[in-house]
Amino acid sequence: MNVYDSHRMADTLAPEGFTETATPEDADLVILNTCHIREKAADKVYSEIGRIRELKEAAARDGRRMMIAVAGCVAQAEGKEIIRRAGAVDLVVGSQNYHRLPQMIARARHGERVVDTEFPVEDKFEVLAAPERSAIARRGISAFVTVQEGCDKFCTFCVVPYTRGAEVSRPVEKIVDEVKRLAQAGVREVTLIGQNVNAYHGAGPDGRPATLGNLLRRLAQVPGIFRLRYTTSHPRDVDNDLLAAHAELPALMPYVHLPVQSGSDRILSAMNRRHTRRDYLDVIARLRAARADLAFTSDFIVGFPGETESDFQATLTLVEEVGFAGAYSFMYSARPGTPAAEMSDQVPSEEKSERLQRLQAVIMRHQRNFNAGFAGRTIDVLLEKPGRLAGQLVGRSPYLQAVQVMAPKKLVGSIERVTVIEVGSNSLFGSLENQAPVLAAAGV
Ligand code: SAH
Ligand code: SF4
Repeated sequence: MNVYDSHRMADTLAPEGFTETATPEDADLVILNTCHIREKAADKVYSEIGRIRELKEAAARDGRRMMIAVAGCVAQAEGKEIIRRAGAVDLVVGSQNYHRLPQMIARARHGERVVDTEFPVEDKFEVLAAPERSAIARRGISAFVTVQEGCDKFCTFCVVPYTRGAEVSRPVEKIVDEVKRLAQAGVREVTLIGQNVNAYHGAGPDGRPATLGNLLRRLAQVPGIFRLRYTTSHPRDVDNDLLAAHAELPALMPYVHLPVQSGSDRILSAMNRRHTRRDYLDVIARLRAARADLAFTSDFIVGFPGETESDFQATLTLVEEVGFAGAYSFMYSARPGTPAAEMSDQVPSEEKSERLQRLQAVIMRHQRNFNAGFAGRTIDVLLEKPGRLAGQLVGRSPYLQAVQVMAPKKLVGSIERVTVIEVGSNSLFGSLENQAPVLAAAGV
């Protein structure tokens, strides 16, 4: 979502005369778009500000003014505190306010240190400028589109409901218009983004709330859009209509990110996840029944307050049972203001770190097995951009695996059948099923 937000900030500043620079040294305005989800991510912001302050001072020595803005969820959570702690920061803009950046910058230019972290009444999406065609093309053939923001679930470890606010869905037609514009500029794959994307309930054309399944069906009809994905979903919000969409829509990729966090019911309940291990396994089974080639990834937290070795074992067995294609795993990080941060039985950090290593080893084994299963198979690859070698393109499989293949540049943006020759640690290597056009294009 921060990638999407950063693009929309750039789009909104383009009519003001701003263009993106390759390096911060050249910039008149540096925006740090920040993440507050774990302590480490939040801490990084202050060390980054320190680094950019040096660039700001160097620019000042050359007689040039550089402004520093802090945006995103750290800005939302800390607000004025950033201005107090970091003298070099000119403005702080919360996660729902970046449509107001032009006015804020104008005020900051006059020397005011501006903070805007109020949740606004207006909808930022109504005010944000649309991207220019050239900006879309520069960003490549795969794009994110935020369709839902915020969360009402209040898992006890999570800051999202506080930093992104209450759950809000964008209307179907607005999303369709945005996706059409992207497709016309060359985008071929769209990932619908939301903190709780399958809780989507934006207004449909008839004014009634639409489901994520409805939205996906509508987007699958947009000419030029070959692939659709969505992330991140919550196990509780997988409804029958979403299952049907997976069964019906070839464009909807068979790869679902479904965070579970823990395999222990005791911990799931303390986390206020509002689903059990059984519920989670049922959802996986229902999705697999809808589309047999579905693969899953997940998120895990180890060392949630009160987690015992036997709770942790339940997480390990869940990984074995589902056989994930990959997963993100994190040590529990106490976030100020969340209920879990106040729980008395915090797990010591050495224990968390040891559990994380064990979990990651199991996840890695499954991930390697999953990838190894592709050797010799022929798969659809959406070719994205030139690879490292001359004459090579890099694309993505339906399961987001990077695939390297010798292919002419004109195939960027198309889906080709690729036979996997070798499975590397980070990507698959393949050859086009029909080599003839490649040789012809290379003049052989
Ligand atoms: N909405 C999604 C996840 C959003 S946050 C869901 O419901 O699952 C992304 C991931 O960050 C979470 O899935 C969780 O694994 C991790 N995370 C969130 N808060 C955390 C915390 N306090 N400590 C460690 N990891 C956390
Ligand atoms: Fe955070 Fe996801 Fe839980 Fe919402 S559902 S509170 S975003 S972990």
